[in-house]
Amino acid sequence: MFDYQPAKDLLAGKTILVTGAGDGIGRAAALSFARHGANVILTGRTQRKLEKVYDQIERECPKQAVIQPLDLLTAGENDYQVLADSLDEQYPCLDGLLHNAALLGPRSPIEHYPHKEWQDLIQVNVNGAFLLSRALLPALTKSTEGRLIFTASSVGREGRAYWGAYSVTKFAVEGLMQVLADELKNTSSIRVNSLNPGGTRTQMRHQAYPAEDPANIPTPESLMPVYLYMMGPDSNNLHGQALDVQAFNPRQG
Ligand code: NDP
Repeated sequence: MFDYQPAKDLLAGKTILVTGAGDGIGRAAALSFARHGANVILTGRTQRKLEKVYDQIERECPKQAVIQPLDLLTAGENDYQVLADSLDEQYPCLDGLLHNAALLGPRSPIEHYPHKEWQDLIQVNVNGAFLLSRALLPALTKSTEGRLIFTASSVGREGRAYWGAYSVTKFAVEGLMQVLADELKNTSSIRVNSLNPGGTRTQMRHQAYPAEDPANIPTPESLMPVYLYMMGPDSNNLHGQALDVQAFNPRQG
């Protein structure tokens, strides 16, 4: 795993929004960003889980977290604008946006893939990332070191049988990352990249591989040096890259 010793105050004074911050990798990222000085905006669909993360941050780093419930499946265009307006009132800018939330959906051949689940995955994994990026770009533009990170998957870089909408939406996420990176490369200091966490010990991984022994799978916490690197000033030279967390090399791509 990437050997990086981030300064304790790496993200001091920065404001970072994490989607799906209540569980898994998003939870670990929110905690890690706060522990390195950031103010974190916790978004997700399950209030109870967000409150647990909030409480933990509040115990360790008081006043560094706020909760903004945002269910990407049900949120309409206006809800994203309301969120953007509310952040605008509270913070001078947004320094980081981690698109982490996603649905896995059923594992099924395309021939039998249920239409409803297909639509839900497009809504959460693709439309949610588009609408949130669009709403928050003005706030990210105000930062001197904006970071926009999409969460990829190996099945979104090479299609794999039975991964259905999950695979297709992860390809779309890479596309959105590339289009945005190209649009912003000459006009903005925002750095746009995608991170493929690789197999990680979370609910989603367990749902995809129920027979696997979780003890053999890296924890979300073990990935955090890469997430911190990507959110902080050291990743300024990375833009438009599709990166792998578990084989991370800052000079890859
Ligand atoms: P988890 O299932 O543990 O966490 C996913 C998070 O997304 C949860 O907090 C969940 O909320 C949230 N979420 C789901 N639907 C919505 C919604 N409609 N609105 C808002 N939030 C929602 O998964 P991981 O932590 O494993 O996954 C994080 C990211 O990493 C995903 O993008 C995933 O595709 C990617 N990834 C994971 C891998 C792995 O092995 N774990 C491998 C490759 C990629 P709630 O807790 O309420 O359900």
